[in-house]
Amino acid sequence: MKEAFPSVCGSARLRRAIADDILNNTFAHAYLLEGPKGSGKAAFALAIAAALACEKKGDPAAPLPCGECRSCRRILAALCPDVQTIGPDEGKATIGVDRIRRLKQSLILTPGELDFKCYIIEGADRMTPQAQNSLLKMLEEPPGSRTVYLLLAENAQKLLPTVRSRAPVLRLSPPTRGELARRLETLPSLGVEPDYAAAVSGGNLALAEAVYLKKKEAEDALSDRALVTQTVELFGDGRSKGEFLLFFNRFPQKKEDLLVLLRLIYRAMRDIIAAKRTERFEPDFFLSCEEASERASRITAKGAVALSALLTDAAGELEKNAPPKTLLPALALRAYRALGGNRP
Ligand SMILES: [Zn+2]
Repeated sequence: MKEAFPSVCGSARLRRAIADDILNNTFAHAYLLEGPKGSGKAAFALAIAAALACEKKGDPAAPLPCGECRSCRRILAALCPDVQTIGPDEGKATIGVDRIRRLKQSLILTPGELDFKCYIIEGADRMTPQAQNSLLKMLEEPPGSRTVYLLLAENAQKLLPTVRSRAPVLRLSPPTRGELARRLETLPSLGVEPDYAAAVSGGNLALAEAVYLKKKEAEDALSDRALVTQTVELFGDGRSKGEFLLFFNRFPQKKEDLLVLLRLIYRAMRDIIAAKRTERFEPDFFLSCEEASERASRITAKGAVALSALLTDAAGELEKNAPPKTLLPALALRAYRALGGNRP
């Protein structure tokens, strides 16, 4: 069987399914690629375009895409004029209808190098409703037209149902720690352990690479991580309501940043719950089972389960725009109570 998308990290089943669709000519003309920031959507989309064009498609020994033929090389290096990536215009948070109209004008040009054209729309969930409606008309093109649309989104639900109904959602699954570590091993080493970088990234390829290559972007993530560890310490050793309130006061006040942090704490709590149940498991947040077990020894199983539920609820409220200023003190007090609350 041909190897499917060896350059993509994670999403093994999805990679196989897409490769089979391409090889069997059952690949549709529009898809929505959904995955969190840093999950490698853009690189995957280019690899899909390369796979569609790959000159070694018929060679069972070559992976799909082969990465070596002229088409693959041109597309993967983003040099092929028939594969275009668009996103929000410089300095804009959304993709407006003008941008989609410009795209539509370029549709009349026939492909130059390939026998199809491919449009990759980054941040598709940031298209205005007008832009989406304009795109919809392009997605409704008669079958047989040689244009492929790959819409990349962090949250497919933000797109109009009419768009979603014409572009099946392909959901990227985050790579495991092992997959990430193996990927990092192919990069030049700067002295950071691949497994460490994979673990602290929590399944985020871009972040794993940033930590491994000691890039500046990794700093925020590492300081978040330190804050999570301190939060877990507070859960174990915090003694008073005041201590909880004061500590939660240090959390970020910006919605997006706070969401990231709450999700990280949630993942740490899941590890703690796992450590309560079994000795050997694959930790998601902590670097080893031992570290998770050591933290778990200071929190009761009931408390850890209650805290997980609280964190999920808080993230949900935050998504619905509850202000962090009122959410955080409430969460601090609920967490304090969940952990027994009978402490002075
Ligand atoms: Zn190729």
